[in-house]
This record gives sequence, C-alpha cells and structure tokens, in this order.
Amino acid sequence: MDWEVVIGLEIHAQLATRSKIFSGASTAYGAAPNTQACAVDLGLPGVLPVLNAEVVRMAAKFGLATHATVARRSVFARKNYFYPDLPKGYQISQYELPVVHDGWIDIDVNETETRRIGITRAHLEEDAGKSLHEDFHGETGIDLNRAGTPLLEIVSEPDMRSAAEAVAYMKKIHALVRYLEICDGNMQEGSFRCDANVSIRPRGQEAFGTRTEIKNINSFRFVERAINYEIERQIEVLEGGGAVVQETRLYDADRNETRPMRSKEEANDYRYFPDPDLLPVEIDQAFIDAVERDLPELPDARRDRFMTQYGLSHFDAGVLTSSREMADFYESTVAAAGGEGKLSANWVMGELSGLLNRDGKDITASPVSPELLGGMLQRISDGTISGKIAKQVFEAMWNGEGDADTVIDRKGLKQITDSGAIEQMIRDVLQANPKQLEQYKAGQEKLFGFFVGQVMKATQGKANPGEVNKLLKQILEE
Ligand code: ADP
Ligand code: MG
Repeated sequence: MDWEVVIGLEIHAQLATRSKIFSGASTAYGAAPNTQACAVDLGLPGVLPVLNAEVVRMAAKFGLATHATVARRSVFARKNYFYPDLPKGYQISQYELPVVHDGWIDIDVNETETRRIGITRAHLEEDAGKSLHEDFHGETGIDLNRAGTPLLEIVSEPDMRSAAEAVAYMKKIHALVRYLEICDGNMQEGSFRCDANVSIRPRGQEAFGTRTEIKNINSFRFVERAINYEIERQIEVLEGGGAVVQETRLYDADRNETRPMRSKEEANDYRYFPDPDLLPVEIDQAFIDAVERDLPELPDARRDRFMTQYGLSHFDAGVLTSSREMADFYESTVAAAGGEGKLSANWVMGELSGLLNRDGKDITASPVSPELLGGMLQRISDGTISGKIAKQVFEAMWNGEGDADTVIDRKGLKQITDSGAIEQMIRDVLQANPKQLEQYKAGQEKLFGFFVGQVMKATQGKANPGEVNKLLKQILEE
C-alpha cells in the first residue's frame, strides 16, 4: 500500500517580554520556584488581569511577516480545565477570534523546490505552571513561575507531507521568530516547542485519516524521530486491519517511541467563553503600519538579496540566512574579506560550520571572528596562501594562535610564487622519477597529477598550485 503522510504543527513560541502577559511579574528563566508568581498569576480572588501591550505588538509582527491578516479585533477566552499547575482552573487563550489568521510561509523541500505551508492562525495565551516530580517522593511540587508567561500558539494547516518537511517548517518558524526578536527560540528552556498532528491516508484519497497528536516536542531531531515513529506505527496498525485511535501521545526520546497519553473519549470539554475580565483587543491601521515600518529584513528577503548581491545559489543563500546570527556573521566576513562573497560563503558553510559542529559551539561563540576569517580570506585572494594551506591557518586561528598574518609568518606558510624556484623544484621531481616520466611520455597522462603532488609535497603544500600546473605543462612539452 502506498501511504501519504499528513502533518500539521502547533508551535508554542514564548514571547520575549520582560513581564507576563497579564501581570507585572518577571518572565526571567531559572529563578527559585514560586518567586516570580504574583497574585494575578496565582489566580487569587479579587485580582484582575491587565493585558501587556507588547505581546500584541509581537503577535502583529509575526502576522505581518507571515502574510497573514492581523485582526483589528480579537477576543480572549477562558479555556476551562482542571490541573494542579493551573491555579485559576482555566487558561486565558484566544478561541474564535485570534489576533492573527490566514497566513503562509514557503519552505525549501529540496535544492530547487519550495512548498507553501498555510498558517491557520496564531493566537495569544498564557502558559501554565510546572509540576515537579524529581525532588519529591510520593508528592508533586508546583512551580508557578511560568504561569502567565506569554505564548504565541502558531497553528499550521495540515500541509506537510513528511517528517523532513515538518522539521523544515519548524526551523523556518524558529528562524523567523528570532529574526523578529519576539522569541529567544531556546528549546532547552522550553521557549519554543511543538505538538505534531500526524495521520496517513492511501495516496490519492481525499479524506484525511484519523490523526494522533504528539505533545510537547522540544528539539528538531525529536520532531523528526517522533513523527517517523508515529508514521510507521500507524501504517502497522492500518495494514494489520486495525484503526488509528484519535489520541494524544507522548514521545519518549530514550526509547524512541510514542505512547498514548489520553484519548479523545476522556478529553476535556473546555467550555470556552469570552473572558469577562478582559476587553476585546482592538487595534487600528496606524498601529499595524507602525509595526510594519519596524520590521527587520526577513529571512526570505535576505536570502534573495544574498543571491543578487553576492552571487550565491538559492541553496547557499538559504543556508546562510537560516539564522540571523549566521547571516550577520557571513556579512561581516564578506566586509572584512574585501567583498569576497563566494569565497566567504564557502568558508562559513564549510570549514567554520564544520569546526563549530565538531566542538558543539554556536556561531556566536566562534573562536574565529568574522574579522579574523575575513583577514585570512584576503590572504587567499592576494595569493599569499593557497586554499589548502588556509585550512592550517584557520585551525591555528581557531586554537587562538593569532590572526592570519601572524600564523603565516610564524609557521612560514607563505606561498611560493617565484616561478624560478618552482621550475627548479619541478625539474628536481622529474629527475627523481624517471620511470614515471617515461610512462607519462608514453601516454599515461594521469601521471600529471602525480608530479603535481610530488612538487606540493616537496614544498609542504606551499607552492602556488596554479603556477605549478602551468610550469609543469610547459616543461613536459619541451
Ligand atoms: P484541535 O483543536 O483538536 O487541536 P485543530 O483542528 O485545531 O484541532 O487542528 C490542530 C492541528 O492538527 C492543526 O495544525 C491541523 O493542521 C492539524 N490536523 C488537523 N487534522 C489533521 C489530520 N487529519 N492529519 C494531520 N494533521 C491534522
Ligand atoms: Mg491541539
């Protein structure tokens, strides 16, 4: 059977405000339990929520950046359910009239194709507290610091067709909220997490299959694994003659499997109704215009500019603009390298990314700054060092041995460009390898590379490769 996968994501992005959505309590992460929960967050009787205007501005930014409608009027609603870490007995969210609706973004599905993913809505809501089990025996601790933290819940259309597409979508939204500076994107701290809705249907069938929802996944890798596990599980169920049960499941990363959490039968009826304590949010065109004027250059626009300004491919420009930090690093490198766009791209995406990966470092913590890298690239362009030797220089800079000129000097890595010296070395190599020379003259042209290799070896890679090739050809033709 040929199955088609259908995926829709609900992403929770914690908005980067200093205070909570309906109170003045701090949102800073990591404080001692219950030190940042005020009377409003605790849901004490007699208190009233007051909307933090900044969250509306942030939601509007997101709406404008995703080609969505920013609603002139939106309404907060109470979503009622009982849970120990929800002190009021309801969560304030938006239901029928969300602040943002009907948007889209394009994701890259491979090097040449994009897919448009619809954004159904994005609504504002408050986060709940946290139940702590680890430090307690036979008891559960409740930390309400997180209660009232502002969230933007971004709901996609069921437009994704593979786990890889879901990850590409999630990464794109992640990059976007960070470009917009509305969310710090810290996934370990739970500032950016998602629920994945997954179903399968026979390819060609129009009606969707029954979906399951995998809750609270907080890493790109886990999203991919959880969805792939769930696809396999659903295929097995259906091909075994069973039926997929609509339910909420949890992903267990240690075992790489999903397990049922609660099924729809026991699901809550949230009894949504407009919150009588909060006025509808009304915004005017002037507000929206002001937000629009304030928008930074967004990832897609920046990618397109990189393509025209630096002559990069769609793919390379996409990688380099995948985060604001990487794009900034790249542009600073180009400036320091005297405008070498392509060369800078190769080094940022190649050697730099490789070493960052190897050492588990973020680009903002790179031991080689854009200035250092750009300075070294200048030495490649002016012929002081070859691209190959540059890797040695780069490693040395990475290890804190100074800038490119210092390293080149100290290690004597300057390229040999003196054609007289190179010619002498070529003649030495040919003389030392008479057998190969004979074979070459008899038609084994592949040996050309062998001679080049010998010359480079004799100079520890310092001979200018272009010069070696040119002179070797001349001498062999004598
Ligand atoms: P709920 O209110 O129960 O969360 P929604 O209809 O709002 O349900 O959908 C939640 C998410 O599930 C959306 O991202 C949507 O795209 C996705 N979704 C809906 N139906 C399916 C389906 N059959 N398969 C996969 N995803 C789906
Ligand atoms: Mg849901």
